[in-house]
Amino acid sequence: MTVKKPKLTLEEIKALSDEILALKEEKNAVLLAHYYQIMPIQGIADRVGDSLGLAKAAKEIKKADLIVFAGVYFMAETAKLLNPETKVLIPNVKASCPLADQCNPELIDSAREKYPDAPVVVYVNTTAETKAHADLTCTSSNAAKIVERLDVPEVIFGPDRNLGFYVQKQLPEVKLHFVPPNGHCYVHKRFDLETILAIKKEHPGAILIAHPECNPDIQEHADFVGSTAKMLRFAEEATEKEIIVATEKGLVDRLSELYSDKQFYLAKNTAICRNMKRITLENLRDALLYEQYEVTIPEAVQINAKKAILRMLELS
Ligand code: SF4
Repeated sequence: MTVKKPKLTLEEIKALSDEILALKEEKNAVLLAHYYQIMPIQGIADRVGDSLGLAKAAKEIKKADLIVFAGVYFMAETAKLLNPETKVLIPNVKASCPLADQCNPELIDSAREKYPDAPVVVYVNTTAETKAHADLTCTSSNAAKIVERLDVPEVIFGPDRNLGFYVQKQLPEVKLHFVPPNGHCYVHKRFDLETILAIKKEHPGAILIAHPECNPDIQEHADFVGSTAKMLRFAEEATEKEIIVATEKGLVDRLSELYSDKQFYLAKNTAICRNMKRITLENLRDALLYEQYEVTIPEAVQINAKKAILRMLELS
């Protein structure tokens, strides 16, 4: 039986945050945090963003001795690929992304055999090894733009099928071959139309914004579909005061803090990524204190995976 750890008190959160800020200063470290992190971590990060924003931030870091990544493992790998001279740490090596694990080099190789003329575009939610087998990467922010700019009739695309649906809707003339056939994020799969319509019934003036990892029926009902960074911008600019949000809870917490004049409703209260939540204030403090756990990538993988990411950054 696993014993649930008691929640930290406000005093403990404050003490840990102060400790982390002091260690960050002492070690000349930069803390990057994803929008799906808990608010106390977002609050002390040097930069908070989505995958694309954090990849760009990692590339621009020049004078730090350490980058500490509060996110999942593939994101820390991306930071390492774009900033190979700097030591990159992830506070918990078990903070992996199950979506990233659904695609692999073997699946890509067999798709290439079937569709030899199609370039391979993989979502950044993949391991460095998988990226190294692709031609280029994309994020939920730029997926449609990247595929469009390739200007080809067919593309091998993976691993998120729902993001593929979103791309396909904007580019019906391009044929997407999915690797794997039905890759998905378990968090975004949890949203269902029935629950959303029930929230809408309670709040008839509310609009719905959704992430492209949500199922097609949710995307079709949404007033706006976009990456977390785009959802944030949309929510800021929206004139509506009530917004139902179909993505991970961390973004709803951030929106509620930033725009307190608006009401945000999480479209499903179980939409919590337990993998992202494996990063805690305690293991973040330990990461800085003991400089653990260093992200390393074999050189051959580094070269090709970096090429795939840089190609995306050039096209986006
Ligand atoms: S929310 Fe989904 S895609 Fe994002 S890290 Fe969690 S499992 Fe992976």
